[in-house]
Amino acid sequence: SPIPDYLRQVVENARPADSGEVAGYIEVLAKADASKMAVALATVDGKMYSAGDDEVEFSIQSISKAFVYALAIQDTGLPQVLEKVGVEPSGDAFNKLSLQRSTNRPMNPMINAGAIATHSLIVGPNATAEQRVDRILKALSRLAGRQLRVDEAVYEAELKDANRNMGLGYMLKAAGIIDGDPQEAVRGYIRQCSINVNVRDLAMMASTLCNAGVHPVSGEGIIPHQSVRQVLSVMTTCGMYDAAGDWVSNIGIPAKSGVAGGIIGALPGQVGIAVFSPKLDERGNSVRGVIMCEKLSSDMGLHMMDIS
Ligand code: GLU
Repeated sequence: SPIPDYLRQVVENARPADSGEVAGYIEVLAKADASKMAVALATVDGKMYSAGDDEVEFSIQSISKAFVYALAIQDTGLPQVLEKVGVEPSGDAFNKLSLQRSTNRPMNPMINAGAIATHSLIVGPNATAEQRVDRILKALSRLAGRQLRVDEAVYEAELKDANRNMGLGYMLKAAGIIDGDPQEAVRGYIRQCSINVNVRDLAMMASTLCNAGVHPVSGEGIIPHQSVRQVLSVMTTCGMYDAAGDWVSNIGIPAKSGVAGGIIGALPGQVGIAVFSPKLDERGNSVRGVIMCEKLSSDMGLHMMDIS
């Protein structure tokens, strides 16, 4: 198959782009090897292709928000989730301390306030961080097709420096959005962000979103169809931090990025995409990751607004 050769070209084409900075807010991320780069594609008919450093693991970070949103809808019901977390793009930084004025809800599940609220809806209001993360780890592992683990070093470091996210937790508690213990919700959210993945895991996970919630390899129905639609819609409008508009017009694939340098894309009915490279642009998205996705989208005609 010519696809692996093509994917190597996708990697090499992006390699010269050396701008951006590795996330520096915790030491474990700051010392990530910025030369690592990888891409993976997982098709809805169960084929997987990858190139570059496709075995290198990194923390899933904000990419988890998309999948945990799907789980919250499953555990709590869509109307109940919508009462707590909106679906409007915020245009603000991901960690902004803000709630919608009229309803007190976080704007959407892809900013931290919304993601912490979403996390608190997993299992139930009085669940512990361990119970929620156990549920999330099991679900993400089923999606990836292998057992995933928490990176304890990332978790410990994030927890030590969690003042802003703890502040968001208390703000959500005061606003009546989180019912249980806000610290427990933030601890669980941070653990959820600390799950390690490689690009093949992420592409596999994305491919289930492309396949109406049915895992393309195992054939198992993992995410209800209604949640898939909801998640992909929110990824389209809010998935790329405050670059969502540029992303959707340029690349045109529902996507979510994370601060460790991963990005997933999920084109319904076609292909799950994952890219990785640690250096981030000023809006928090992987510089080489964006270039790789641009190339994939234009070469393969993946923009969702184009006729295929
Ligand atoms: N753990 C990070 C935080 O909550 C995740 C940020 C991200 O990937 O955007 O600050």
